[in-house]
Amino acid sequence: MKKRNLIHFDPEGLNPKVRKLQSPTSVLFKCKKGECGILSLILEAHGLAQAAAPSDDVTLLWTATHLKPDKLGSLKQHQRINHFPRSYELTRKDRLYKNLQRMQDLYGTRHFDFIPQSFILPAEYKELLTASHRLRCPWIVKPVASSRGRGIYLTYEPSDISIEEPVIVSRYIDNPLLIDDNKSDLRLYVLVTSYDPLVVYLYREGLVRCATVKYTSNAMNLDNPCVHLCNYSINKYHSNFRTSPDLEADDGHKRSFSSLIRSLSQSGKDTRKLIFSIEDLIIKTIASTASHVNIACNMFVPSFTNCFELYGFDILIDANLKPWLLEVNFSPSLGCDTSIDKQIKSAMLCDLLNIVGIESKVTEWCREENVCRTDKRQSGRFRSKSANNRRQSAKSDFSPIFHYFEEQHTRKGEFIRIFPTEISMYRYYDYAGTDLNIAFHNYLFPKGDRSMLGVKKSRRKDFEFPITDTDLARYQNYEEYFEKGYVSKKINNIVRPIAEIMRESPEDGNRWIDTIFEELKYSINAGKRLSVSQARKLFIRYLGCIIQRLPYLASQPGQQQLNLVEKFVCRVATKNRGLHQKLLASPRATVDDKVAFISAQLRSFIDGLEKECKDGSGFPNNNHLDAEILEEFCNIASETDFERLLALHTEVEPDCSLQFLFGRKFSNRTKLILPVICEEGRLDLLKKACLLNGHGSPHIVEKPCSS
Ligand code: ADP
Repeated sequence: MKKRNLIHFDPEGLNPKVRKLQSPTSVLFKCKKGECGILSLILEAHGLAQAAAPSDDVTLLWTATHLKPDKLGSLKQHQRINHFPRSYELTRKDRLYKNLQRMQDLYGTRHFDFIPQSFILPAEYKELLTASHRLRCPWIVKPVASSRGRGIYLTYEPSDISIEEPVIVSRYIDNPLLIDDNKSDLRLYVLVTSYDPLVVYLYREGLVRCATVKYTSNAMNLDNPCVHLCNYSINKYHSNFRTSPDLEADDGHKRSFSSLIRSLSQSGKDTRKLIFSIEDLIIKTIASTASHVNIACNMFVPSFTNCFELYGFDILIDANLKPWLLEVNFSPSLGCDTSIDKQIKSAMLCDLLNIVGIESKVTEWCREENVCRTDKRQSGRFRSKSANNRRQSAKSDFSPIFHYFEEQHTRKGEFIRIFPTEISMYRYYDYAGTDLNIAFHNYLFPKGDRSMLGVKKSRRKDFEFPITDTDLARYQNYEEYFEKGYVSKKINNIVRPIAEIMRESPEDGNRWIDTIFEELKYSINAGKRLSVSQARKLFIRYLGCIIQRLPYLASQPGQQQLNLVEKFVCRVATKNRGLHQKLLASPRATVDDKVAFISAQLRSFIDGLEKECKDGSGFPNNNHLDAEILEEFCNIASETDFERLLALHTEVEPDCSLQFLFGRKFSNRTKLILPVICEEGRLDLLKKACLLNGHGSPHIVEKPCSS
């Protein structure tokens, strides 16, 4: 096989000095949707360029959605895409549960007992009632296709559950591992580079996320999300929230997985067993959906090199150190709000890109070698061969494929290949014993343990699989890492966003923003207008500024302004409005709990607006404000700047001025009361926006301003 020239990715490349030395390549990438800032930075720092036109020959396509079958079918050998088709079988909460339930039925619940008992409503409402009669326990209700803790609540009563939209109701694990008295869970990164043969890597580092309010399983406290949910997006707004300064620190509400393992092992806990159970959970979960993905790959994906996928496994460890699978995230967040995010995610992404292999020049190596997925026919032929011939046949027919994955493993960095391993056919033969998996296993480990192959299925069901020497050797890999901690602090040199630099020199910043504002004002006076999506984008940024100010509003005497935002939040909540009101009115909720809750709700309202913007309503045209200037404005504008631009636009365009909010969320009957929130007279615009009635005429209800 021809040697490929792969780009070597290193987090050090993000250092501005090193960046200058990198020579640009002709390799293009495209990041579509989602938070890809850090990934784009890494790729650009290594000489790749963002593709400008849809027709460009892109080597790496990173998207937050599935690619359509026709697009998948036209991929060339060198092109990589970060999703497998049909991997929603793993990443949708309802599909995941169904797939694991099928495995429980086939192979015995005890081999798949890492997922909490769940019911998908409305279809399984009766079954839920029966289960809740048998055992009174809390249930956690989650929308089936949601994320970041949105729409989640806890209840003892199935009758409390709203079935306006499909939800999954799971038994609440009420004895979580507590860290500093707070509930915690894990985000681990799992990379699958192939489903057939199955190749799975687990990243050695991960994130531990803690809730911010002391845990109690007391039924009275079920309604406080900062007690029961560990999502960063919910807890980051709580005044208790602290992050770890680096990966070695064992404090903070977001800390490294290695620091948790170190402190567990120092307190004498069996972390080895914990790691093995986590590996086991991951392999079984992925194996449970492999057949679905394989069918789709065989139908649509031209080459075995095209797809790879990074999954975010959310795992809750209970007080007995048993891991429970909560969900598997499609496109796990690459957001880098904190330094620990930056350190882990940039190092992880560099290792991932090395494993996946990005060529520095686009060559036709693969086509020349003829190892593409014309193997559909080959594998048909392969499958018809007798068991005795399989090994031989695997070598002759599939060795280029096997060699490709074997070579990939040499670039694993901090990832550990957890499937296949020397004992994987011994342990996972039932769930993953496909012809290609067996053949690859034999290729890699000619002396590997295959003793399970001959054992009858009925006997295997009750088999306890002891820890083997191979497991121990693999564990050493983790141990070394956990003991030494993660030494790379190289990542802090990431180029800072312009807004951050501006903040350091406020005078320059003010001059700059005024210049941009004048430019936009000139355009507006000359007849240019904000498009709907531009207006919404500005409004989103404006709400983002309000979120930042909430803790300040909470510290104001009387909290009048906080209460006004609270009212707004209850109004704009499209689901579970009553529940929100109840929660905010709860006498047990502290001001900090409230701020956290309101911020999270405001954030999810913003997400809804953002999604609509991404869906592409109203792309700017010649009559709209210049997109680049507006972008620059958004990068450095403050809340006041956003408001003065939107206010200016409202003056010149009263009819369509408030499209950014009005006309989508509110019915004719809705008359929102959102009075002035801030003493400085800001938010006046928002007030008007919210008080418009269905015909576009303002219906303003004055409220006393606290100042
Ligand atoms: P999302 O995709 O919205 O983040 P998750 O399934 O990850 O939904 O759940 C969000 C949070 O809820 C988790 O951080 C976890 O703390 C908590 N959680 C979810 N399911 C359970 C459960 N069965 N038992 C206990 N806590 C749970």
